[in-house]
Parts: sequence; C-alpha cells; structure tokens
Amino acid sequence: MDELELLVDLHRSGQRQGPGGSKETRRALEMTGLAQARGLRVADIGCGTGSASLLLAEWLDAEIVAVDLFPEFLAELNDRARTRGFSERIRTLEASMDALPFAADEFDLIWSEGAIYNMGFEAGHQAWRRFLKPGGMLVVSEITWLTAERPPALQAHWEREYPEIDTASAKVAQLERHGYRPEAYFVLPPDGWLTNYYEPLEASFEAFLERNAHSESARNIVEAERREIALYRRYRDFYSYGFYIASRID
Ligand code: SAM
Repeated sequence: MDELELLVDLHRSGQRQGPGGSKETRRALEMTGLAQARGLRVADIGCGTGSASLLLAEWLDAEIVAVDLFPEFLAELNDRARTRGFSERIRTLEASMDALPFAADEFDLIWSEGAIYNMGFEAGHQAWRRFLKPGGMLVVSEITWLTAERPPALQAHWEREYPEIDTASAKVAQLERHGYRPEAYFVLPPDGWLTNYYEPLEASFEAFLERNAHSESARNIVEAERREIALYRRYRDFYSYGFYIASRID
C-alpha cells in the first residue's frame, strides 16, 4: 500500500476523520436558521465517512450530496446511510473539492467540517460561493489560532503544515471581503478533539499496524499521528477548529 492507501486504511473505520462533535454540528445548524426549513439542497464537502452528512440527514428535510475524494470513505458512508435508513436523502459523489461539478446557485447550504484546508480556506470559500443560492449558508470548520500570540515552536509547526492558519478575526474579515456576511463563529471544545477523534484513533493504532505487518510506512504514519496528538495535548489553549457560519451576499 502506498501512503495514501495506508491513511485511508487507518481512517476508514473511524466514526469521524477529523475533530468535531454532534453537539457542535447541531449548534452550527441552529445558527444557520435553516433547521426548520423544508426541501433543502445541501452539499457536505470532504464528508469522509459521513459524520456530518448522517446528522444533517437525520435533522433536515433535505437532499444531501456528500462529496469526498476517496471512494472507500464514500462506500462506508453509503453503508451507514443504508443501515440508518437515510439512503434516499444522501447521494455520494466522488470528486475533488477544487473541481466540483455543481451548477451556479444550486445549494441552500454548503457544509464542510475539517476539510476545506485541503484546498485552503480562502480558495475554498471563494470557489464554493457560486454554488450557493444568494442568501444561502456556508458552514465550515477550520483550524484557527485562539489567541493573538502563541509559543514560537507551535507557530513554526503550523506555519510549516498549514500557512493559512490564522485568528478568527482574520478569517471573518476574509469572508467579508469575498462576498459573505459572517453570521456566527464558535470554537470546537477539547472533547471534540480528544474524546471524539484522537482517543478512538489512538485505540486503532495497534490493529492498523498488525493489518499492515508493522511496515515502515505504517509505523511512520502512526508516529506522525502521535506527534500531532501530543502537540494538541500540550498546546490546546492556543488552537482549535473554529466554526464559521456565513451567508452569501448577492
Ligand atoms: N468531514 C469529515 C469529518 O469531519 O469527519 C472528514 C474530515 S477529514 C479531516 C478531511 C476529509 O477531506 C477526508 O475525508 C478526505 O478524504 C477529504 N479530502 C481530502 N482532499 C480532498 C479533496 N481534494 N476533495 C474532496 N475531499 C478531500
């Protein structure tokens, strides 16, 4: 298996592929004002195995297009949707978030938890804006500095890994500059990282290594995940995912 296949193998059995939580998905949904609306068209971009898509299918009267680059995640999502009786509401689409086959003004709601970084926050919200109806809502979670200053070692790490990391005020100003009206912002609390994501991931490392005969590439992947987890445990007061809720201005 190459590195990407190993990453998919590590993450496909997880309930989620990144930090988040059903409470926060619900909170963000309430902030859109769309929770009671009927006949919505929704896209979940970078959906993974469907942590958000499945909740939105449960809570909304909506047709949901769940998009991801990896068919293995979408197959898992289809299984989960079938088991929970949501197959009618969720359509999976294998596509890259930077080349989406959508029409202009197609969606009432575009959702993306912990995924927009794959194309970059700015490029992502700019590219997706045209797929929203005027007045349509964007909900994205994105890694965000929680304070104006932070330890230099942490700053250096994230500037290497994801140079677009920034404060919420900078991200909100960027949304304003690009045709959105920011409606709300909140921070994902630590249990969204630890209880919901890192702890189940840590619990899966041994089986992953066994499945992959403790190969060097598999060990490297686990080591990289362990470093990321240790970094979060040490510096969690300085960064998290921010949820950004914004509406498209005409
Ligand atoms: N939203 C899910 C969640 O919260 O559990 C998954 C988040 S995971 C950190 C990022 C997701 O983005 C993965 O499922 C990955 O396969 C997907 N992804 C990565 N690059 C992508 C691309 N270019 N287009 C679409 N999806 C992509």
